[in-house]
Amino acid sequence: MTTHPAPEGSAVTTTATSLRTGLALRGVTLGYPDGESRLIALDEVELTVAPGEFTALVGPSGSGKSSLLAVAATLLRPDRGEVLIDGVDAGALGGRERTALRRERLGIVFQQSNLLASLTAVEQLLVLESVRGRRPARARGRAEELLESVGLTGAEQRRRPHQLSGGERQRVNIARALFGSPSVLLVDEPTSALDHERGVQVVELLAEVTRTHRTATVMVTHDRDLLGRADRVLAMRDGRLTEEV
Ligand code: ADP
Ligand code: MG
Repeated sequence: MTTHPAPEGSAVTTTATSLRTGLALRGVTLGYPDGESRLIALDEVELTVAPGEFTALVGPSGSGKSSLLAVAATLLRPDRGEVLIDGVDAGALGGRERTALRRERLGIVFQQSNLLASLTAVEQLLVLESVRGRRPARARGRAEELLESVGLTGAEQRRRPHQLSGGERQRVNIARALFGSPSVLLVDEPTSALDHERGVQVVELLAEVTRTHRTATVMVTHDRDLLGRADRVLAMRDGRLTEEV
């Protein structure tokens, strides 16, 4: 088990002692307002992802994949059911505690790269360290190691987003998501802006980091050619989850 030091200056330490057991959704149901009624985006979803497991999630547009990730990321609260991160029930936490849980246990890579335009690749990671209240200098070595491990050279690490290719930016996103040593890694369509070959490389990287960092990883993808790298493929249809063989 990787030890996970509590960030200095963090007032919230509720989650610091729980084991890393991954992600579980239990009977998760989510609706959005739709005129007089509600549109059911997630319908009694059951999902368990263990540490080191690379799960792919496929399904037609509008089937609920991004909603599932948003609920798992504790960004949306389900109408019913439980979201457990390392066994901690996110629904039972207050806002501050949930934010701390997210910061300490979750890594999120969204469809759109949301890198800050004025920062170099290394700084994209280090800025999180300032947010955590730690001193950036100490973290620089670790940030550089992580960026190198996702395939970015020293020169590339000093570039700003507009000086990097789409594939390189996605690698920075992945390194940034890993920087807080998350237990759960949630990735939404990481290859949608990439050509096929770069898409394959990014998915191979995700498979590798899932093993080396022991993350419980869920990756949403449209691209069926990329599913071979996953340990498990789940399919979503009309908010319901089924396992594919
Ligand atoms: P996917 O990622 O599989 O394309 P989504 O989770 O984005 O699916 O959407 C599932 C359903 O919920 C769709 O019918 C979509 O239109 C609807 N939906 C998603 N987000 C919202 C929202 N913020 N407000 C209302 N409806 C939404
Ligand atoms: Mg989506």
